[in-house]
Amino acid sequence: MEIAAAGGHNVLMVGAPGAGKTMLARRLPTILPKMSEAEQLEVSKIYSVAGLMAKQQGLITDRPFCSPHHTISQNALIGGGRVPKPGQVTLSHNGVLFLDEFPEFSRSALEVLRQPLEDGFVNISRVQASLSFPANFILVAAQNPCPCGYFQEEDGVHECRCSQGELERYQKKISGPLLDRIDLQIHVPRLNYQELKYKRASETSATIRDRVIAARQIQVERLKREQLYCNSAMGHREIVKYCRLTMQAEKLLEKFFASLGLSARSHDRIIKVAQTIADLAKSDCIDTAHLAEAIQLRTREG
Ligand SMILES: [Zn+2]
Repeated sequence: MEIAAAGGHNVLMVGAPGAGKTMLARRLPTILPKMSEAEQLEVSKIYSVAGLMAKQQGLITDRPFCSPHHTISQNALIGGGRVPKPGQVTLSHNGVLFLDEFPEFSRSALEVLRQPLEDGFVNISRVQASLSFPANFILVAAQNPCPCGYFQEEDGVHECRCSQGELERYQKKISGPLLDRIDLQIHVPRLNYQELKYKRASETSATIRDRVIAARQIQVERLKREQLYCNSAMGHREIVKYCRLTMQAEKLLEKFFASLGLSARSHDRIIKVAQTIADLAKSDCIDTAHLAEAIQLRTREG
């Protein structure tokens, strides 16, 4: 979550029920930098247009967190209607959109997510005219590893009961182009009782937020000529131009690619995430440790 917040990366969490995916997603807004006044104004305007502001309410100061249910209609997610209203993607602007049970959303709803993820806004076509709403958010998606929830999660109590066909259908529900927009695709393991009892959080959100802010400042400075604000917004051209790997890191990457036969897109995603990890460590180049961590954060390959 710290890496996602620092680099503005979208996240997909895969894990069994009870692994704490929802809890993690809800923490994300608390470690993002506080909204600037311009951002507060923008969000308040959106909520006002949507009719979600009380009359006497001042500016909205907390980053939005929206978590629509998977039965949501395409209009409610993206926006629309006879008198066009902003959808959840716009209500999440400058904040976090959390989609739990990601593969259960309708295919059409998932496909229309691609535009805001790519452009940071949505176009809503009307008969008379075309409208555009801001929709720049961090997507946090969560899903079980399989329909029953326990694939490769055998814990002595639960066992996966899904057939091979069910597994394949489930895993194919999220299209490649959509997954391409999600830099971090991680496995969230279930903690057992002992781990839950003794693994207390040693840091507050405020401490993590300070590191996030410092890492973001480095990115703003590095990318100022491109008018980009975070690593996730870099395209291939910027990656080549700005991301510096040590020679050992370069070798590791080469070895990893040769052994797994990864695509150019996964190559770019790994480097973007490694760059964010290096920025959090205040390192001026990507070292093997940063790269190895970024590679680990891509457990679902494609
Ligand atoms: Zn299963």
